[in-house]
Amino acid sequence: ERKPNVVILGAGYGGMVTALNLQKELGANMANVTLVNKHDYHYQTTWLHEPAAGTLEPEKTRMKISEILDSNKITLVQDTVEQVHREAKKVETTSGQELPYDYLVVALGSESETFGVPGVYEHAYHKWTVDGVRETKEHIEYQFAKYNNDETMQGKDLNFVVAGAGFTGIEFIGELTERVPELCETYDVPRERVKMFVIEAAPSALPGFDPELVEYAMNLLENRGVEFKINMPISEVNESGVILKDGTEIDACTVVWATGVRGNPVIEKSGFDAMRGRVKVEEDLRAPEHEDVFILGDCSLIINEETERPYPPTAQIAMQQGVTCAKNIKALIQGGELESFQPEIKGTVASLGGKEAIGVVGNKKLYGNSANFMKKMIDNRYLWILGGARLVLRKGKSPF
Ligand code: FAD
Ligand code: NAD
Repeated sequence: ERKPNVVILGAGYGGMVTALNLQKELGANMANVTLVNKHDYHYQTTWLHEPAAGTLEPEKTRMKISEILDSNKITLVQDTVEQVHREAKKVETTSGQELPYDYLVVALGSESETFGVPGVYEHAYHKWTVDGVRETKEHIEYQFAKYNNDETMQGKDLNFVVAGAGFTGIEFIGELTERVPELCETYDVPRERVKMFVIEAAPSALPGFDPELVEYAMNLLENRGVEFKINMPISEVNESGVILKDGTEIDACTVVWATGVRGNPVIEKSGFDAMRGRVKVEEDLRAPEHEDVFILGDCSLIINEETERPYPPTAQIAMQQGVTCAKNIKALIQGGELESFQPEIKGTVASLGGKEAIGVVGNKKLYGNSANFMKKMIDNRYLWILGGARLVLRKGKSPF
């Protein structure tokens, strides 16, 4: 009898947790499980603000997939997904492979949302991937390296703009404020030459988050030299820097884009019904009218019944979806009921650089050392889920 083909697209949080759980729960002769990913490594998207600013080596955020998954049980195909052919039940890759599936899991993550602002792709650092942040980090360092050696050096060379004061923008600027004094020292740059701006369209930084914690974060970052421009949408990015909606121009050689995300372009290219690249999935995580396609993580959209608004896409949800998805695939193969997915939001903790962080866990507000401790524990817990104590020892973070 032919074994069904289960094909998982993307080795991020959703894809890795699905693969790990299938590896544990599916007998070897029950299915052929294939994981398709652009690289032969998995990386921690949630840590990328650190290597982007240069406070953590990019190497620390990634690990070989072969060290985590059992290659006897899961076949890794290192390739880039171009498109899903839903009728033919095949995945097409950039190198021209065609992978047939009986059950498909799409967990390809997201890309930056520009909201149509021109110039982002050309002039801003907008890729939150290992490849992307390595370039951001090198570019930032280069602005300092050329300071004492380049007669054409201009003021804007040491101006840094972060677009968006969501969690990504805030976590990144927190790291940058930690990195700048080090870079000034290394490259003999007077600290007062460096300017850092965070520009936010909404009437508050971290819109919707606890106001007291937002104030704590802003005060702390302002004390480290950050200038916030709140309620000021960016309307253009160009060679000189950014232009705000009211016409103000801010010159900067470095613009880091963090105004939110949209689902991987493969979703729309493959013809799934989507909003900003995200598919509103059924309760069992399948795409509407698709009995054989599960969509997870940043490519999926689920509604919070209490607020009647979509949950913000997070690793927390992607990982929980991976567990349900693996159970539901097993049920489809072995027979049995499919489970409904219910997210269990444990809280939100954001780092601010150094030993500082803010967060809400349960109904408790945290800041400073206790929030920092919690953040490091969250980071280590995920390593534990993936690779147990060995991985925590190799890649883990000290909570103190
Ligand atoms: P990802 O984890 O992004 O994985 C997608 C995978 O697909 C990647 O491995 C990628 O290489 C691969 N891929 C993409 N395109 C292709 C293709 N065409 N072909 C083949 N492979 C492909 N969330 C939290 O819950 N807590 C946090 O503290 C937190 N911090 C964050 C900090 C930063 C700086 C950022 C940017 C995000 C943060 N998030 C956080 C959000 C979180 O990272 C995402 O919600 C999460 O990564 C989504 O998981 P995913 O499985 O959908 O995709
Ligand atoms: P986001 O949508 O949370 O924030 C983007 C911010 O950019 C918003 O405040 C928005 O008002 C602003 N913005 C939009 N257009 C703008 C413009 N033209 N000019 C200036 N500002 C503009 O997006 P994000 O911060 O990239 O986060 C993406 C997802 O990842 C979210 O779901 C977030 O919760 C999650 N995340 C979580 C953590 C954490 O838990 N520690 C960290 C990072 C990201």
